[in-house]
Amino acid sequence: MEILYFFILILTVLLLAYNRVPLLIAMAIMVGLTVAWTELRHLFYVSSWFRYANGIVAVTLIGFSIKPLRRLLISDRFFSWFRKGLPTLSDTEQEALDAGNVWWDGELFSGRPRWKKLLKMPAPQLSEKEQAFLDGPVEELCRMLDDWEICNTRRKLPEEIWAFIREQRMLGMIIPESYGGLEFSAQAHSAVVLKLCSRNLTAAISVMVPNSLGPSELLLHYGSSKQKDYYLPRLASGKEIPCFALTSPAAGSDAAGMSDVGIVCMGQHEGREVLGLSLNWNKRYITLAPIATVLGLAFKVRDPDGLIGKKTELGITCALIPTDTAGVHIGQRHLPVGAVFQNGPTQGENVFIPMEWIIGGQEKIGQGWRMLMQSLAAGRAISLPAVGTAGAKMAALMSGAYARIRKQFDIPIGHFEGIEEPLARIGGRTYRMDAARSLTLVALDQGENPAVLTAIIKYQLTEGSRHCINDAMDIHGGKGIITGPGNYLAHAYQATPIAITVEGANILMRSLIIFGKGAIRAHPWLLKEMQAAGDPRPQARKAFDKAFFSHVGHIISNLVRSLLLGLTGGLATHAPMRGPNARYFRQLSRMSAAFSFTTDLVLVLLGGKFKFKEKLSGRMADALIHLYLGSAVLKRFEDDGQPEEDLPFVRWAMDDSLYIIQESLRGVLSNFPIAGIGRLVKWIIFPLGSPYAPASDQTGKAVAKLLLSENASRDRLVAGVYISDEDDASGRVHRAFNLIINSTHAENAIRNAIKEPVTFANYKELVQKAVETGVITEEQATMVRLAQEACRAVIDVDDFPPSEIEDSVGASLARDLD
Ligand SMILES: Cc1cc2nc3c(=O)[nH]c(=O)nc-3n(C[C@H](O)[C@H](O)[C@H](O)COP(=O)(O)OP(=O)(O)OC[C@H]3O[C@@H](n4cnc5c(N)ncnc54)[C@H](O)[C@@H]3O)c2cc1C
Repeated sequence: MEILYFFILILTVLLLAYNRVPLLIAMAIMVGLTVAWTELRHLFYVSSWFRYANGIVAVTLIGFSIKPLRRLLISDRFFSWFRKGLPTLSDTEQEALDAGNVWWDGELFSGRPRWKKLLKMPAPQLSEKEQAFLDGPVEELCRMLDDWEICNTRRKLPEEIWAFIREQRMLGMIIPESYGGLEFSAQAHSAVVLKLCSRNLTAAISVMVPNSLGPSELLLHYGSSKQKDYYLPRLASGKEIPCFALTSPAAGSDAAGMSDVGIVCMGQHEGREVLGLSLNWNKRYITLAPIATVLGLAFKVRDPDGLIGKKTELGITCALIPTDTAGVHIGQRHLPVGAVFQNGPTQGENVFIPMEWIIGGQEKIGQGWRMLMQSLAAGRAISLPAVGTAGAKMAALMSGAYARIRKQFDIPIGHFEGIEEPLARIGGRTYRMDAARSLTLVALDQGENPAVLTAIIKYQLTEGSRHCINDAMDIHGGKGIITGPGNYLAHAYQATPIAITVEGANILMRSLIIFGKGAIRAHPWLLKEMQAAGDPRPQARKAFDKAFFSHVGHIISNLVRSLLLGLTGGLATHAPMRGPNARYFRQLSRMSAAFSFTTDLVLVLLGGKFKFKEKLSGRMADALIHLYLGSAVLKRFEDDGQPEEDLPFVRWAMDDSLYIIQESLRGVLSNFPIAGIGRLVKWIIFPLGSPYAPASDQTGKAVAKLLLSENASRDRLVAGVYISDEDDASGRVHRAFNLIINSTHAENAIRNAIKEPVTFANYKELVQKAVETGVITEEQATMVRLAQEACRAVIDVDDFPPSEIEDSVGASLARDLD
């Protein structure tokens, strides 16, 4: 009986914590139970220590419910400690932290995600007008693009392509129709970039840059009406080619450390003496700068003569400068790997600009960093994730087809287990990447600006693309390596680091930004505690008390949830639905609690120092990333109408994500600076050992099988890329793939009858014999012949006369340097 009572007490407390019962209700329950147990002792034996223990818990809860008492004894003391330990943030750090809002990341940090809320969000959708644009002008532009000619012969986007882009207003996708733009949703904007990118990266980047962080975006949010009226119609029609220059030789990732400066002074503008800035800058890596007509520029403003106030250092500011202004230098080109979009340095020497060229006018001096951070947060989810997803989709499409077309040892290489593995990785990752891309765009189209999730998407989708393209290269062997008009992979492979480096280089994103910002912004209580501790007003202590005790409750609850969910293998929580994915919902809930509990361990025990523990922060970021990607995968399956045949993709992606979350958290705890604590917490969140393993061989086989044949799942997976029907590098692969699938039956019949496999060397003879002996029909014979020839055309690689190779490299380099 004593043991039973002990368990009843523990269970009561655990259930209260697990269910996050509010303090006052928990107190009432414990008081009620104490009274009830006391009364019941007259009816049957109730251990006295048990009644006292119930009473002690009830009294403790009463104590915590009396706010003046708990403040006096506890939270006021923590308030002073918290205030002293509060990390000092520079203005730029603070503005970066403040940018954007919190969305599904808040649920993941809560430790108890509300799945119904996620499932209720709308499915990704394009309007009729947007779909027509994709099927019309974008499709047409893709057909016009010749990747080899652009990258290797012309080394720039041909003028006729630029003309088409301008004419179709593709540079104005984010500009409202009232200014002559297309006013597309984030979903459509991403779809356009994705499709173009699946054909030619140079064209995709040339369209992408004016539509991402740059003059249009900044003008829309911060421009004066005069600036908007003048520039937006010109930008939408392509009359102006914009670029945005932030990066300097000395300031890359730490862009706020730039030394480009504008001094407030009087100067001549349009024949009048006006107040303005004298600018000097030296920027590099600026996309479209060599051909830009208007330069968006970020620089620091100084006012040494006090012409506009008492402050000398006025901070980072953004302006729009016509590139024909005296002193502006553009035109030189950098030569990025794998793509030939216009990119180059720009310098400015004593360039005088009037105040009205500052975006938003003189009053916006010093607000440039905030503008950039706010705009970057949303933009990160559109352009580069579209580029990354296009790379992954093309890797899936082409690798599956090639692995079916290419035979070794008389069987398609895709049927070897060794090739199945990279194929499965490509398939599973592509599904997950596309799911995360679409989900984040849904958030953007609902007016959200989830800065942590957009950072995750930028990082993870560009990184995922790198993995998929690497796997695709391995599957293609020499075919991927030998460049020429017939190679559809090499440029994507070479250009992979571009998306990884721009708009926040990936290592920095993973190790500093994602968890660093997430832990403060998306944590349910930390920011509130920090805000209260930083607030000098007396009522701040009250606000701190509320946040502090809520935070304590949050930690206790996540501890209990982690332990109980660990002991029950996740069964103690419920999934929002029955079906094949119910298990995954439960496991993500379990890992969310474990992640959330580990987050608090990191925050409480390392405080502001966690910022410098980048390895630890990187692993926490990995766990958060895969909680988000896992959520997106489950949502995508529901949005698609639960197609059972897609389950191999879902299983691969979910098993992989859960495994990564587990290994990341284990990595954090194994390397936790306070060793004993790490071991203890590892035991709490994984009490029965490591529950997750990478996707099984069987799941991998099922994914590979989907990529190796024509089916609806494969179509859904690669939806949105350009499928060429021409006699070009990728068009030849699609044709051969289709023919080889349709001729398989006849090929097998020939093999079975004549006891010899059909190859390119013997097909004419074997097919003839098979027709004569009635093994196959004449129609089937034609199919086999066409398939063999189409496969050979895919397997062939380009060769050139030596002079052509030597001349073309020398000549094109000379042209570029000219
Ligand atoms: C093709 C191309 C196009 C570009 N277009 C533009 C443009 O249009 N406009 C513009 O303004 N800029 C542009 N950029 C610049 C781009 O944004 C920068 O390259 C980027 O910010 C990184 O700066 P960096 O190259 O100097 O690398 P660095 O800052 O030198 O970084 C080198 C490495 O160190 C890592 N690192 C840096 N700090 C940390 C840290 N605290 N913790 C962990 N790791 C860290 C980075 O992740 C990176 O891996 C472009 C760059 C390229 C290559």
